[in-house]
Order: sequence, then C-alpha cells, then structure tokens
Amino acid sequence: MNKALSIILLIIIPVNMIAQQQPEVFQTLSFGSIKPTGWLKEQMQKDINGFVGNLDLLVPELINDPIYGESRLQKNSKAKDLGNLKAGDVAGDEQYKWWNSETQSNWWDGYMRNVFLLDDKNGIEKVNHYVASILATQDEDGYIGIYDVELRYKFNSENGELWSKASLYRGLLAYYEFTHDEKVFKAVTRAVENVMQNYPIHASSPFSSGTSFNGGVSHGLTFTDVLERMYFHTQDEKYRQYALFLYQDFSNTYQSEADVQLKNILNPTYKLKSHGVHTFEHIRALIIAAYTDSNMEIDNALKTYLDRIKQATTLSGGAIGDEWIAERHSDATHTGYEYCSLQELLDSYCLLFQKTGNAETGDLIENTFYNAAQGSRNPQHSCIAYLKTDNSYEMLGSKNGEIEPDRKQTRYKYSPAHQDVAVCCNPNAGRISPYFIQNSWMKENEKTLVATLLMPNIVETTLNGTKISIENITHYPYENSFTFKIQLEKNMPLTLKIRKPIWVQNILTSEKYTIENDFIVINRTFMTSDEIQLSFSTDVVVKVDPNGAHYFSYGALLYAKPILAEEIAGKVYGNEFTDFTYKPQDISKYAFAKKHKSVYKNGIIKTQLINLKRNKKETVELIPFGKTILRQTTF
Ligand SMILES: [Zn+2]
Repeated sequence: MNKALSIILLIIIPVNMIAQQQPEVFQTLSFGSIKPTGWLKEQMQKDINGFVGNLDLLVPELINDPIYGESRLQKNSKAKDLGNLKAGDVAGDEQYKWWNSETQSNWWDGYMRNVFLLDDKNGIEKVNHYVASILATQDEDGYIGIYDVELRYKFNSENGELWSKASLYRGLLAYYEFTHDEKVFKAVTRAVENVMQNYPIHASSPFSSGTSFNGGVSHGLTFTDVLERMYFHTQDEKYRQYALFLYQDFSNTYQSEADVQLKNILNPTYKLKSHGVHTFEHIRALIIAAYTDSNMEIDNALKTYLDRIKQATTLSGGAIGDEWIAERHSDATHTGYEYCSLQELLDSYCLLFQKTGNAETGDLIENTFYNAAQGSRNPQHSCIAYLKTDNSYEMLGSKNGEIEPDRKQTRYKYSPAHQDVAVCCNPNAGRISPYFIQNSWMKENEKTLVATLLMPNIVETTLNGTKISIENITHYPYENSFTFKIQLEKNMPLTLKIRKPIWVQNILTSEKYTIENDFIVINRTFMTSDEIQLSFSTDVVVKVDPNGAHYFSYGALLYAKPILAEEIAGKVYGNEFTDFTYKPQDISKYAFAKKHKSVYKNGIIKTQLINLKRNKKETVELIPFGKTILRQTTF
C-alpha cells in the first residue's frame, strides 16, 4: 500500500467508526413488566373470552395448518383455500401460500401476550404447548420457517420467507421475555443466525423477487422488528447493521409496496400510494435504519416520511388502509382505515417514542388507541370492523354506501374473524392492547422511570438493582385523575416523569414538580409505600382537520353523535359468535355552528349543532367516539 493511501485510510476509517449515532432517549422494559388493570384489563378479559381467545375455533383450518412443520411449502404446493372471496383481488394466488403463517403467528403473538398479562392459566398452558411444538420444527442448521430445503432462500418471485419469520419470532421473543426460558432465546438466536448466513450482509439481496406484486416479500422488511429486539437483548451491533442492510436492500430492489424506499422519500413530488399496512409497519425499519446509520439524509428521510404519514391519518389516528393509500390525504368520511393499519401505526409510533422521547408521539399513540382503535371495536359484541371511517353512516359492507365497481366490498362490518376477506385484522386486534401496554412505562436511566402512556396499569421493574412497583389507578381516558401507588424495597431518591398530554390546561397536585419537554418531573425521596395524586383539567376543544371538518374533543377522547341503527345479524360461528351489519334509522345530518356553547359533563359533551334537515340549531349530546357504532364525528 502506498503511504499516501494508507494515510487517507487512517483518516477515513476512524472517522467512519466514530460517526455519532443518535442517542436514544428511553429504553423499553421487557414484555410482562407492565400489566393492565381497571377497565383495560376487563376489556382484554372480554377479548380472551371472545374473539381473541377463540379465533382458533372460528377458523381452525387456518390456525392449525402446520405450515412451519410438516406442511412446509414445497415446489408443488398449491395456494391454500382460505375461505375468502377473491373478487377484485389484485395480489394473485402466490400470497395465499404463505398467508396462514401471518394469520397464525400474529394471532399467537397477540393471544400469548394477552394470556400472560391476564395470568390466564389455561391459556398459558396452551401457549407453552404451542411454543414447544414450534421449537420442535427447528432444523439442525437453525432454520425455523415455512419452506422446505429446496425452496428456502432461493426466490425470484413473491414469497413469505422473512415475513413468516418476523411474525413468528416477535411472539417467541415476547414468550422468552415473560418466561425467561433460555431455550427459546437460543432457538431464536440460531434461527436469526440462519437468516444472516443464508442472506449474507452486503453480499445478497433478500428483497429481490422480480417485478410483480410482492406484498409478502415487502412485509418481510418487518424482520427488522426481530433484529431490533435481538439488539435490545444482546446490545450486539451486528443485528442493527443487518437491519440497516435490509432497509438498504429493500430500497434498492423492485417493490410493489415502495413508499418507504429511500429514493421515493427523497423525491419531493412522491405521494404515498402503497398498501397502507405496509407503509405504516415500514416506519419501524426506517427508524431503526436512521438510528443505526448516522447520516443526515436518512434522518431527513424519516422526518419527511413521518410528515407524509400524518397527512394520511385522520384526527382520530385512523391511518388510511382501505387498502391502498393511492395518493390520497385522509378524510373523515371517504378514507377508511384497516384495523391492521392501526396496530402497525401504533407499534411504529411506540418505537419512535422510545428513540426520541418526544412527548407528542405519546399523544399520537394514545389517540390511535383510544379513538380510532376503540372506535373500530363493537361496543356490544365481541367483534371488530375490518375497515372503519371516522364518520360512519352505515356499516353494511361498503364505505358509507359507496359503490366500488370492481368488487363487492364487505369489509365495513363487524366480525369476529372476517374470513370472507382475510383473517388479518382480528389477530392484530389481539395484539394492539398488549403492545400499547408494553410501551406505557419506559426507563430514562437507572434513576428515572417515565409514565410514557397513561392508562390503568401496574409496572414492576428495578432501578439500580432495587425493586419498584407503581400502580396507576385511574379511569383514564374517561376521567383525567390518577393515583400512582408506589412500592419500593427501601426508601430512596428517584425521579418519576409523567407525560403531560398536549391538551392539559392545568396540573393539579400537591407534589413539587418541574416541566421538562412536556413531562412532569417529580424528584424526591420516596418511601417504601408512597403515592402521588395528580389530575389534569381541560375543556372541550374543537379541532379542525385540513378539509375544514370540525371534531369535538375533551382530553384524550374524541366525541361523536351516535346514529340510531338497526342491527342485522349475519354469518354465525358456533353458538357464540356472529357477524353484524348496521343500517341507520335516522339519517339526519348536522352541521357545525359557530356559537356552539359546548359543555362537558360526566362523559358527555352537550353542544349545539345545525340539523340540516330542519335547518335549525339543536342541542345535541356527543359521546366518546370509541363507544359508538354508527356516528357523525365531523361537522
Ligand atoms: Zn387487516
């Protein structure tokens, strides 16, 4: 090597190696450190007694297909009959081969997290059997997946190699975090190693799959979720570097769902157009890439992408997912959101919150959970809407009565399974509560614990080796007062931070506190049994979306005018479960009145709106959006 070159290398290499990664503000806790209490626990218990706990009985042929075991896909495998209607299906048959892996793994992921958090002994027993049966499928070389030896890692078209693994390994890692079963962690470590060997970093192209629809390949970018969690457990940089490589390879190959590709983000005229769920789950890969690679271009790309996502999201947190974004901006009546897109957006914002510590992201997370997601559940029966809109004037299958020329739309209804479309949303509806809860407390350092999201829950962890437990006793978001009951091994000084939601007008507490970046900071010596009392005052706020539509809110909740509806029972599953559609009985619509004199009292907003049929101002009662079926939300 000539001397000049070696000097240049000496300069370049160290600079490269010490390039500053962005510091991460918070650390998440292991799954299981935070458990639900109060109304949230009750709702999860209902889910476990309902569609979340019984999905394997509703669609047994999907859940019991041994796709990771004796029925791994081979050269001659045929697309599976999933019992759905395929009219207007743009994606083709190939995806139906891997689809059961998503259904199963996402369902088990949600199911196991629920039964662990609820301490449901029978459910836990069932999960133990499931995990043992999955581990038994692991090959000598570490492979856990859905393809036989001949096919695996050798694709030039649509496939589910990484996606079937991402969805499965996420659950296995949660299982390990809860049970500390090292056998499971070892199995996942070997399985991830098998991927990294067969798709070597910078010397392979896992996302090359031709130039046709490749939704499964594209979902595979969420393998970065697994790598991020492996990094959490090991602090081994190789996992992040591999995640960055996956994002780069994804960016540089043909993708049918291409919103997150770096070149598209950097193109100022590009508009989001992909399948919504992909667009929102891919935020996480971009976040991980930005925090692994210290270059401005990718940091700016993340900012741009998040701005674009906001434009595709309604004020309820409903991110367009009906199902392609198709260059639209969100609209309270005309853009529907898929339940899957809510879970994926929420999960992505949780990762963002952990990295940035930005309190406003906490508001976005709570908004999606407490409004869009609660508002897509059926308040009376155990079922959810696959697609929903903020203004929901009918739920008879189609979007507020719109006719779609190329297919019979059936997603705008409530179902415990939605098998006629795809069993994707119901498994994700089982995942959303545990993921929301898992991100509700984070550590800032060994002296500081942060209540990042507000809800009834109890956290148990250690600070500097000392055990601490804090129960947040509250009816939030239906009331805005909190008692934090603190138990410590010994009296000790520590810092508690509580996120101050954006809508708070006054903080009422006898504690001494400071405000730091929208966190309430309480710094004192706590006794072994201690308590903090806190409440927030607020008022009715009228928010206006970019289309000029007015939304009423109070605290974290949106309020809507419920529309009286006739409930129509549809398909029946066994004795307990039924699909439901809803036909409006009163079609009066209301318009916003400038002088609306809104008052909040006991969970209701009383306001004045103009009845358009009578052209007359009337006093109207609005209730929480999350407790409605048919509703007018914007005026
Ligand atoms: Zn879905």
